[in-house]
Amino acid sequence: MGKLIYLDNAATTKTSPTVVEAMLPYFTEYYGNASSIYSIGTKSKEAINKSRETIAATLGAKPEEIYFTAGGSESDNWALKATAEAYESKGKHIITTKIEHHAILHTCEYLEKRGYEISYIDVDENGKVKVDELERAIRPDTILISVMFANNEIGTIQPIKEIGEIAKKHGILFHTDAVQAYGQLPINVDEYHIDMLSSSGHKLNGPKGIGFLYIRKGVKIRSFIHGGAQERKRRAGTENVPGIVGYGKAAEEAFATMKERTAKEAKLRDYLIDRVLKEIPYTRLNGHRTDRLPNNANFSFQFIEGESLLIMLDMKGICGSSGSACTSGSLDPSHVLMAIGLPHEIAHGSLRLTLGADTTKEDIDYVVDETKAIVERLRSMSPLYEDFVKKSQQ
Ligand SMILES: *Cc1c(COP(=O)(O)O)cnc(C)c1O
Repeated sequence: MGKLIYLDNAATTKTSPTVVEAMLPYFTEYYGNASSIYSIGTKSKEAINKSRETIAATLGAKPEEIYFTAGGSESDNWALKATAEAYESKGKHIITTKIEHHAILHTCEYLEKRGYEISYIDVDENGKVKVDELERAIRPDTILISVMFANNEIGTIQPIKEIGEIAKKHGILFHTDAVQAYGQLPINVDEYHIDMLSSSGHKLNGPKGIGFLYIRKGVKIRSFIHGGAQERKRRAGTENVPGIVGYGKAAEEAFATMKERTAKEAKLRDYLIDRVLKEIPYTRLNGHRTDRLPNNANFSFQFIEGESLLIMLDMKGICGSSGSACTSGSLDPSHVLMAIGLPHEIAHGSLRLTLGADTTKEDIDYVVDETKAIVERLRSMSPLYEDFVKKSQQ
């Protein structure tokens, strides 16, 4: 493989070599089932407990409030479906937003088919949830509010503390999908009044297929996977010990390096944003200018197709993602870009670049130079652009 500049860290990240190293013995040496009595099983149990403690400490939570799952999607499904069931005698109304990940939105659609009512709250042009609208949507039968911590496409960070306070004031459970935020932003579940929180290992240089759901003590939630007594009888299945160990290690590293790493990433992100907006005309930044994930930049380039741009970037060894079409198997542009009010044709020309810990200024310069050249080329082939230029010269 030639040059590879990976700027799709919101989709997944490279597993850190120290994480892999920490995991390896739990495949080959300490492979015992954590539920067994003999000592290699005990080794597994100890490793699981250690990871649970590490992760709990990062959130200001108790170890027994961390439940390991198979990833962010499972955590989101569990949080919504199991609270819906457990609290249905109180009501069947749930509040969420229009810009959630599909793991939340498609679960909501599933619940709607089963008689639940969902209010999807709007966001403003920067992707911030309209908190007053959210509060007005609360009803006596509202059982849950679910709002993502930070958006995976446009990076906007939500006023989670404010929403947590509203939920608490009204006695409603509050869940947040923190898959993008965990490891990037400091989070304290008490300070933010969070009752449930979803996270996923592979978004913070941990392994894929492992996640957790934080569930505050006292929340009545049903078990999601039925079977054995693992995870305090709430999530059955032999524990993914290497995954859990890797996740603990990844969390430890992410929190130890957070301040420095995110400051460096934010600086590079701003450099990227400034250069693109300055050097490529008819371009806009999507998402909030400052309240955004330190590693996220999302642009819309007028008169081009995001998919074509991605393919041409790939030929230059650059990995990014677009907010449009084919990736999701549909012709509609991203629901997030629609929710911030972008017209279809603008949303179709978007590009998301998400930096990683080892992204350099040279990488960014290369990416901006290539993007600029490709956008120019694509525009030169676009009849829409030609029309536009003609009209503006009249
Ligand atoms: C990636 C992601 C998920 C899904 O997590 P998986 O571990 O891939 O299932 C859910 N929510 C958000 C915001 C994400 O970015």
